[in-house]
Amino acid sequence: MRVMIIGAGMGGLTLAQALRGAGIDVVVHERDQAVESTGGYRLHLDERACRILRRHLAPGHYQALLASSAGLKAFARFAVADHRMRLLFQEPRDGASETLMIGRIPLRRLLAHGLGEALRLGSEFTGYRTNPDGTLTVSFADGCTEEADLLVGADGVGSRVAAALAGRPTSVPVGASGIAARTPLTADLRPLVPELLAVGPALAFGPGGAGLFLSVHDPGSGSMVDPAACAEVAPIIEEPALIWGLLAPDRAFPDRPRDLDGAGLIRLTDRLLRGWSTPVRALVRAADPAATAYFRFHAAATDTDLTPWPAGAVTALGDAVHAMPPTGGMAAATAIRDADVLAEELIQVRDGTSTIPLAVHRFQIRMAGYAPAAVRVSMRPLGWVNRMASPLGTQAARLALPALASATRLGRTLAGARGA
Ligand SMILES: Cc1cc2nc3c(=O)[nH]c(=O)nc-3n(C[C@H](O)[C@H](O)[C@H](O)COP(=O)(O)OP(=O)(O)OC[C@H]3O[C@@H](n4cnc5c(N)ncnc54)[C@H](O)[C@@H]3O)c2cc1C
Repeated sequence: MRVMIIGAGMGGLTLAQALRGAGIDVVVHERDQAVESTGGYRLHLDERACRILRRHLAPGHYQALLASSAGLKAFARFAVADHRMRLLFQEPRDGASETLMIGRIPLRRLLAHGLGEALRLGSEFTGYRTNPDGTLTVSFADGCTEEADLLVGADGVGSRVAAALAGRPTSVPVGASGIAARTPLTADLRPLVPELLAVGPALAFGPGGAGLFLSVHDPGSGSMVDPAACAEVAPIIEEPALIWGLLAPDRAFPDRPRDLDGAGLIRLTDRLLRGWSTPVRALVRAADPAATAYFRFHAAATDTDLTPWPAGAVTALGDAVHAMPPTGGMAAATAIRDADVLAEELIQVRDGTSTIPLAVHRFQIRMAGYAPAAVRVSMRPLGWVNRMASPLGTQAARLALPALASATRLGRTLAGARGA
């Protein structure tokens, strides 16, 4: 059995590692020329995603992930604040669970570690055809073709593989967008960091419908595992930075936000934060333009079948199937879970107790059991952003959020929220 994965993102790389570990022939085609060519934002991976990675990576490899992540102290609790950085409520985090707070670039580099020839960079998928014997011929932008028994679209939001299967795009814009960036925490900028970020990230809401996610990311000071103890796979330690992510309704953005460069996006963020805490605005203005990017948030419809195609030799996982805004902090973790579930089903094919279509069928059914809920949870904070668009929004939220937090466990939802 030869499995071909399109997309070396979080889901595709996890699947590749899992299948290689199980002795299954796998190749990943990624259009990026380099593993490092990816958004520089920071990811939070929940306990389940950590368990999965621990299972599919060699111990020394997983250890390097822990050593590259910020320590647990960096996420003792999640805070919700107003635009003046006044605490509205906070949700303590379960200190006994292992989670990862790691830059997307180090995570991607470490997940790609050891794949060697199985990872083909600069290889853009364009289409496939099914052969009479049920195998697939897959085509790439450079004119090459390759054969596979199973094609997995792990090609993220706007997936070509999933769109070809579904006959339509698998997600739609949700009406809100974000700007993610990092501000290097130099000695002169550190005193500007709001006190409430000392023990964990915060999501602040302001008038006009702007929300700002803020988190200090400093894996070099107190990672979970001593980097010096990693002999097998070298950890990747990022410089200390304030990770921030603006979220706002699309109408707050100019017509063509993608045309703005990093400096333009920082200026736009500063404008949208007029009236916010002065030190926070100064930190935003000091962001690294090269690490600043615009994202339009997409989500899959959760009231219809996520995989409306008959199970066969082509499937898709992660954002390709169930895109969700980053406001739940669950999308990468859900892609990693998909990879684990699909690998488990394919191991049965390897062992002769299942077939590829049966494995795909079981995978798609199991994914339908958890992915729609993750999309719905991720959409909730955007409702708050929209409500805050009214002038009285901030005041109303100050009064309502604490009560709402205890009543609906919104805090727990937001505890996973990372705008960056
Ligand atoms: C600002 C921001 C913050 C986030 N924070 C979090 C967080 O804290 N926690 C969390 O769980 N999630 C977070 N996310 C979401 C997370 O990054 C994604 O949901 C996750 O990476 C999805 O994984 P994936 O494998 O499905 O797709 P991706 O990681 O997006 O990978 C898709 C890959 O496919 C490649 N590709 C696309 N088309 C082709 C093609 N035709 N041929 C070849 N290759 C192709 C792309 O180049 C890409 O490398 C955040 C997202 C953003 C934007």
